[in-house]
Amino acid sequence: MKAAVFDGQKIAIKEVSKPEPEDSQVLIQVKAAGICGTDIAIVSGYLPTPVPLILGHEFAGEIVEVGKNVNPTWLGKRVTSEINSNIDFECYYCKREMFTQCISRKALGIDINGAFAEFIAVESYLIHELPKKISYEEATFIEPLAAAYQTFEMMPIEKDDKIVAIFGLGKLGLLLTQVALLKGLKIIVIDGSDKKIALAKKFGAYYSINRLNVNDIPTEIRKLTKDIGADIVVDTTGNPDALKDVVASCKTRGKIHMKSTHGLETPINFTDIVVREITIYSSRCGPFEKAIKGLSSGMIKASVLISKEYALNNIQEAFASYEKNQDHIKTIISI
Ligand SMILES: [Zn+2]
Repeated sequence: MKAAVFDGQKIAIKEVSKPEPEDSQVLIQVKAAGICGTDIAIVSGYLPTPVPLILGHEFAGEIVEVGKNVNPTWLGKRVTSEINSNIDFECYYCKREMFTQCISRKALGIDINGAFAEFIAVESYLIHELPKKISYEEATFIEPLAAAYQTFEMMPIEKDDKIVAIFGLGKLGLLLTQVALLKGLKIIVIDGSDKKIALAKKFGAYYSINRLNVNDIPTEIRKLTKDIGADIVVDTTGNPDALKDVVASCKTRGKIHMKSTHGLETPINFTDIVVREITIYSSRCGPFEKAIKGLSSGMIKASVLISKEYALNNIQEAFASYEKNQDHIKTIISI
């Protein structure tokens, strides 16, 4: 089969052997896969992985083969898959149902082969059937949307939590904006793209800051919040330069939530965090069921976030052009 293989330096289309599903696995014919910031971090050398490796962890497709121990009714189903594979179901975390933190886990497309390929074999416990209303392209947003929901699974919203500032309006920031609105929060968005800002406002963000036009973002946020600061600040940028503003924009005893896995060293002065008793949260993978429900009900809009689609053969071009354009949100590889 054809696959996009990362050799530690670059990605290239290669002919590799089609995976054989093990007894507990299904074989998925991949239809669409999204390029994630994590993929860019890997190819840029910030996030080390074993090589050679087929990247790609936001994907959907059709089940074309099932292993011996898998219910054959899965055959022909349209599905997406969670990314944390090789779960042992017996470690400290598994016993507490924290399967995404299993000590044996291997992430598809990061630790083991992923979905920028014609086929992928995955453990059957990872798959979720797609409702008819969700297209394969939209389904590539389920993994990041689940991560957006996880923000509020990990971080309680308390009585005084009313205003959230979201730094960065990539795919995750724009999904988070929509999820935060469903939680009843008022949203301030910060980004450098007027186009993305317009989209966030269309979703319902009440105030926006174009960081290219504003010198002092924390002061601007304080002006909007009676000089208090945002109750919650979420960073999706992974930009070390933004972190100072993230901290300074948060109210005393507020919450900061880190969402980026950029792999960059980030200098941070903890004194202000300690003195003002700010709590730092973080989260990544989340509940797929909630994400699927959000998309299929139409509460969350995803297809409007697709900037460009490429064929698998043109994946190098897709990676090369990723985020060169400030307005770019999401690239999908159609397979
Ligand atoms: Zn485990």
